[in-house]
This record gives sequence, structure tokens and C-alpha cells, in this order.
Amino acid sequence: MQRLTGIGVSPGIAIGRAVLLKQNPLLVRFPVRAGRVEDEVARLERARRLSEEQLRDIKARVTRGASDLEHLFDAQILMLQDPMLLARAIDVVRREQVNAEWALQRAFEDVSAIFDEIEDPYLRERRGDVADIVGRLRMNLGYGRAAGRELFRDVEEGSVLIADELTPSMAAQVDWSKFGGFASDTGSRTYHTAILARSLHVPAIVGLGDISSHVRPGSTVVIDGAAGELLIDPTEAEIEATRARSARWTRAQRSYEHYRAIPAVTTDGLAISIQANVELPDDLLFAQEYGADGIGLYRSEFLLSTMPPDELSEDIQYAAYRSMLERVAPASVAVRTFDVDEEQLMAWPQGLDQGTSGAQVRSRGPLGLRAIRLSLARRDMFRTQLRALLRAARHGHLRLIFPFVSGIEELREARVVLQEATDELVRQGETPPRIPIGVMLEIPSAAMTADLFAREVDFLSIGTNDLIQYSLAVDRTDARVSRLYEPLHPAVLRTLRLIVHAAARCHTPLALCGEMAADPVLLPLLIGLGLTEFSMSPSAIPVAKQVIRQLCAADMKRVAREVLRMATIEEIERHLLASLSDVVRQAPENGNGGK
Ligand code: PEP
Ligand code: MG
Repeated sequence: MQRLTGIGVSPGIAIGRAVLLKQNPLLVRFPVRAGRVEDEVARLERARRLSEEQLRDIKARVTRGASDLEHLFDAQILMLQDPMLLARAIDVVRREQVNAEWALQRAFEDVSAIFDEIEDPYLRERRGDVADIVGRLRMNLGYGRAAGRELFRDVEEGSVLIADELTPSMAAQVDWSKFGGFASDTGSRTYHTAILARSLHVPAIVGLGDISSHVRPGSTVVIDGAAGELLIDPTEAEIEATRARSARWTRAQRSYEHYRAIPAVTTDGLAISIQANVELPDDLLFAQEYGADGIGLYRSEFLLSTMPPDELSEDIQYAAYRSMLERVAPASVAVRTFDVDEEQLMAWPQGLDQGTSGAQVRSRGPLGLRAIRLSLARRDMFRTQLRALLRAARHGHLRLIFPFVSGIEELREARVVLQEATDELVRQGETPPRIPIGVMLEIPSAAMTADLFAREVDFLSIGTNDLIQYSLAVDRTDARVSRLYEPLHPAVLRTLRLIVHAAARCHTPLALCGEMAADPVLLPLLIGLGLTEFSMSPSAIPVAKQVIRQLCAADMKRVAREVLRMATIEEIERHLLASLSDVVRQAPENGNGGK
């Protein structure tokens, strides 16, 4: 038995058989039942036949009798027939009882090692041809554009996914009914995959180093997402203990249930609005189930994980936004325009040999052409999204957020494009409604000039996930520096205070939609700093309500004033925890309505 600790990013417990996912190249490794082994062998044989046909066809079309080119393709066809590669892969399938893709990769690694030993540089370079052949075989094993779902088609229910990296777009495509949880080598709490896992209630641990190289497919693993603990090959006694813990966790979850239906009001009567952050249409169900007051952030770029950007037409977007608005009405939905970078847009459809699938909504190129900057540079794409949103706006209460705005000029330019999109619709005979416009304050320059934005927008939303990482120069997706990602840093708290004051002076509604709000220790401090509107992962809402209903806002204002005078994170944390335990000890469940 092995016990490993990583960063628990989504609570809950999963016990199951390990399925391995390697993103580069995109590979899944899962055990195959004895009766299915020959099916995997047949898949390899079929892929070989298809590859050979394709190569003969390409040879005929491309070479037109040029003998040096013909040699190239003949050599590849010979490699397909060489027992060194495919017979080896078939042997791995039969011996290890694993899926064909994985066995092919194993055979490729063995063959590559042989090539690496060769001294003759010309012959050594032929390794590239083998890689080419393997890429073709992989493609012919059935990897298509819908790789995410396809990849896991034959995986048994009750499995646990162990990945080197699980990108948000891949996570968005996984059929989670087959997996009880996941663990990955990389990641952090605020990486979008972690956010998604919380939304979908999938227990998850990230930042485990090179766990994906240690776990055998089919071995039993246990994930405890709250403790951040992964057990590999646990004993029967440990599995029993885990089951008991899991039952306790489920009971605790149920005890939060009654908070779903009641308002978030502090003991001294301050009403707090709690909305939900959503990424996928399924999240809406959870948002409603957990009693969200609306959708405070819809990360629209997740639409890009379902199809290539050029296929994501105005009509497809319109249908998606409209359905969301109708389902949430009369509450509002704040849709954030695409927050992706250029590379993520380009990732379609180069495909699977590079280990990509779908526009990769992954760690965004942090300081480059991203979000509103990219939208302003790709006006056609931006106008298409805005037209879809303007048309959908008639079917509910839409609010629009521009992400990653660094200066007022970008806001004004975005408004110009919005006006162009409106004019286009008017020319087509439509009458788009006026939509409330907001910006995400997530870059320090925008935070520092919050007063300028507050005068020009209908609402402001603080994105602490990015604001913290840029204020502290800590990459939120890099597990190695994640301990420096500190929401309680005095610089972060002062920035938040500055924004709250700027919004209050201009009477501009202000919300906070970063993960910070979902932390039961930080939320009271945010209320003390003067924030009254939050948006968070749906599953965090019941706990947030429970916390709020035990708090006295006036007390928290005093605590906030005190911590703002402190110099170190440690001092601030100690004082906050001590004050909270006092507040919670004194406050029985409040009687603020319960309706
Ligand atoms: C944020 O930056 O806080 C935020 C909510 O947006 P995202 O996590 O999608 O960058
Ligand atoms: Mg952000």
C-alpha cells in the first residue's frame, strides 16, 4: 500500500480501479477483461490494414513515379509489417491485458530505445518514421475529434482517473458517470480543472508529482479529495475505514441541505447574495439545487471545448445562451465573453498527435493576447459572440462581463464592438435590448483604477483567482509555487479594500467571483471588507450560507480593520482564525427568517 499527499481540490471520496491518461501523446491505459483481449488485438490488426491502405493510396497520389519518394512510403509500409512494432504491441495486449493504444505506445517506446542505441545518424533518424507510423496507427485505432468521450468509451464504471495533466477541455469531455474521481501530477486549486471538479462533485487531488508513472492500470486506488490523500493498493481494512469516512462525509453533506433553501443573512441582518460560477450546462442543475441566487459567472469559453471555434456559429452560441437564460430566469446570468488565448483557439484541429483535443481551455498564456485583448484583435469572432448574446438577451436577464481588462480604453473599445453588433442586428430587423455591462477586475492595473471603471460600467466583478496571481507574481497553475499564492497577503487585502471603496463611492454594484469566496475562513473577512455579493462553485454555496448565518457583519468589519493593519500573512491568519472561533462560538444559528 502506498499513501501519497497532494492538493485536495474537490472534496469527497472515490474508490475504484485506476485508469491512466497521458496527455502527451494523448493516451489512456485501462485493464481489459480476459474475454476482451482478442478484441483489442483485432483493433490493432484493423488499424494496421487501414494504415497500409492509406499509405499505398498516398504513395500513388503523391509520388507519381518519383522513385526516391516511393522509397519513403515503401519503408513505412515495411515498418507496418515488421514484427518489431505490431507483434510487440499484440504481445503486450495479451501479456498485460491492457488496451491497444497503450500497448502500441509500449511497443513504440521499446523500438525507440533500440533506435537511440544506433550509432549511424541516418539510421537513427528513422525513428521519426516509426513515430509517424505510430501516429497513423493511433489515429486508425479510432481516435477522432470527439476524443474525450471516445477515449473512455470502453472504460468500466466505478473507475478512477489518474492523469499526468487533465486539461479543463478534456475534463469537460469526460463521461464522469464512469469515474468516481481523479488524481493528477499537475494542477492547483484555482486551475479550471479543479474548479470544474468542484462544480461536478468529482472528488479530486492534484499536484501529486509523477503519480501517473507509478500507478498500474486496474490497481485499486482511493481518493480522499478533502484530505488530499491518495492510497494505492490499500488493504481491506483501509478500504473499510475509507468507506466509513465516506459515509460520514455524505451525512455531513446532507446536514447542509437545509441551508440550500434559506437566505444568506448575517446575525445582524445584512443580506448577502450568493450566486454560482458555471462552466458547463450541467452545472446549472447544481446551481439551482444548491440554492444559488443566479449565475454570477458563466465562463463561456467552455463552449470552445465542445467544438472548433469556426464551427461555434452565432446560432449555436445563441441556442446555448438562450437555454441558460431561460432556465435561470427570473434570476440573472452574467456571461463572461471568451477568456482564452490565441494558442488555445489554434489548438483545433491539429489534433491528437500533439495530445490535444478541442480548443484547449488550459493554462492560458498569462500575459499575452488573451481574453478581451484577443476578442478585440479578432473582431469577427467577438461580434459573432456579442450578436448571439444580444439575441439571447430577450429570453432572460443577461449581464455581460468583459474579462482581463487592463485599462479603460479596452472597455470603451469593447463597447464600440458591442454597438456594431447591435447595429447589425437592428439592420436585420431585430430589436436587441440594452444589456448591463461589467468588467472583471483581475489585473492589478484595473484594480488600481477601479474608480474609473466604476463610473463607466453597470457593475464590477472581482476575479481574485487572477488578481492574486498577478499581484503576487505567482503562477496559479504551477504547483511548485502554489504555496506563495496567498489570498491573505496584505497587498491583496488592501487592493480589495480599494476596490470596495471605489465601487461604493460611485454606487456601482460590486461582486466577487474568485475561488476566495468559497473558502469558509476567507468569506467572513470579505464580508468584513464590505462585500455583499459573491459567486462561487455551486457545491460551496450551502457551507457559505451556513457560515454567513453565524456571522455578525459588524464584528467582521472590526476584524477586517484590524487585519488591514497587520504586516504578515501569518499574523493575519492567526488573528482571523481566533476572531472567527469567537464569533462562531457566540452565535447560535440565527433566526433571520429561514424562509
Ligand atoms: C478569476 O480570475 O478570479 C476568475 C473568476 O476567472 P478565472 O478563474 O476563469 O480566470
Ligand atoms: Mg480570471
